[in-house]
Amino acid sequence: MSALDDNIAKLAPHLARIGETGFLNHIGGVAQPAVSGAWFETTSPTDDSVIAHVARGDAHDVDAAAQAAKAAFPAWRDTPATTRKRILHAIADGIEARAEEIALCECWDTGQALRYMSKAALRGAENFRFFADRAPSARDGQSLPSPSLMNITTRVPIGPVGIITPWNTPFMLSTWKIAPALAAGCTVVHKPAELSPWTARILMDIAEEAGLPPGVWNLVNGMGEEAGRALTEHPEIKAIAFVGDSSTGSAIMAQGAATLKRVHFELGGKNPIIVFDDADLEAALDATIFMIYSLNGERCTSSSRLLVQDTIADDFEVKLAARAKAITVGHPLDPATEVGPLIHEAHRAKVMASFETAVTEGAAIAAGGCRVGDTGQFVAPTLFTNATNDMVIAQKEIFGPVLTAIRFSTEDEALALANDTPYGLTGYIWTNDITRAMRFSDGLEAGMIWVNSANVRHLPTPFGGMKASGIGRDGGDWSFEFYMEQKHIGIGTGPAQIPRLGV
Ligand code: NAD
Repeated sequence: MSALDDNIAKLAPHLARIGETGFLNHIGGVAQPAVSGAWFETTSPTDDSVIAHVARGDAHDVDAAAQAAKAAFPAWRDTPATTRKRILHAIADGIEARAEEIALCECWDTGQALRYMSKAALRGAENFRFFADRAPSARDGQSLPSPSLMNITTRVPIGPVGIITPWNTPFMLSTWKIAPALAAGCTVVHKPAELSPWTARILMDIAEEAGLPPGVWNLVNGMGEEAGRALTEHPEIKAIAFVGDSSTGSAIMAQGAATLKRVHFELGGKNPIIVFDDADLEAALDATIFMIYSLNGERCTSSSRLLVQDTIADDFEVKLAARAKAITVGHPLDPATEVGPLIHEAHRAKVMASFETAVTEGAAIAAGGCRVGDTGQFVAPTLFTNATNDMVIAQKEIFGPVLTAIRFSTEDEALALANDTPYGLTGYIWTNDITRAMRFSDGLEAGMIWVNSANVRHLPTPFGGMKASGIGRDGGDWSFEFYMEQKHIGIGTGPAQIPRLGV
């Protein structure tokens, strides 16, 4: 039996089980269908087969979930932090115990390749452990004495929060948001992406088994415009943590205005990788390929714009094209697969439309530029050359395995091109000149910059973007800043010196 057959066989019982039950919502500790009784279907991008039906929650389900989160909030807020810590570690244990199942289901649901998703499952457990350990210090504050006051600060959880996640790496991203919210003492209503609901359901089950009290974490499946919108408009939801498209972020901001929603946005990107001619070019080539073609290019931090110095561009682009053509496109459950199918037919059509745009704009297609097979949503890893930064293919997020290469001659020109985009999520700089690396990092408009490195996650560091790529940061203490309210308490330390009125 091949490794692929073996993995398909391992997935089968999970598929059979979910085919029977469907994906239920989970409100106040009870798994349940939508109040309206409506369902929608979710399919696998590998062969377009139906995975299961999904409860189609709307404003009624969101209201029930928000009320459950509100009711559960005081007790969860007042639960000793050491208890919260223990429960979050138990969730991490549960994730590790089911890591293989999570990875297989995530691959089938999203089309992401197993080689990445097995790590993503374990990263979800790391997220819970990291914030579990921080829960006991979440309320820590400062002492800021003044001549007449002992001023102290403390933090309290903001209340029930809404978490809305996208389809690209849903399990990892859900844990990244939910873990700090729970550690801070907030209760949660989670609305996963309608295109990939599977692992949110597994995560919910794990949390229940780990002893999370009913109502602390609620799950409502549904469409963005229905369940998602209702969550952002609900008066009992105090904040929205959102990961997704920049235009959806704008919509959420407008939807949340009436209830003065606090928002945290992790949005799109058109991230530059800048390769200077003094760089370690073999390593830069590896990084360029990895950062755009891994995770199907469906990755907010993908380096979708290559800025390459003209002195090395010919050779670099030839090698890049050869490597892109050699990438293994295949079944997501095959351990050999490097690029799997894109999430959905509509998304594949959007990605493939960029091939036509590239030609119309006068760029060249040096690799890919076509569909692979006629079943499933596979496209070939694609490289556009002869491109300029003002082209649509250099400005719009394509969110697929598609790289646009642009040439520059001077450092100043490279910086201007790198910043000439609405986005500002990440940047990758390849140079062996440390002074230039520092200078360039300083000028680059991006929330996260890696020099001579790929994107290596380190949980204590701030994660997030500038410009149209986001508002706010996750990671370290930054997550708690979002999920908590800062309080100042001033205590008189001497005789009260209050101006006396009316005497
Ligand atoms: P999307 O914005 O279409 O959907 C994301 C979520 O928002 C889904 O759950 C959807 O149902 C919901 N939604 C849609 N309309 C809504 C509305 N009006 N009100 C409330 N909720 C609504 O994004 P997507 O296509 O699922 O994901 C891809 C995008 O996510 C890309 O732009 C990518 O760059 C971005 N992303 C960013 C990061 C980051 O950390 N910056 C990480 C992953 C993905």
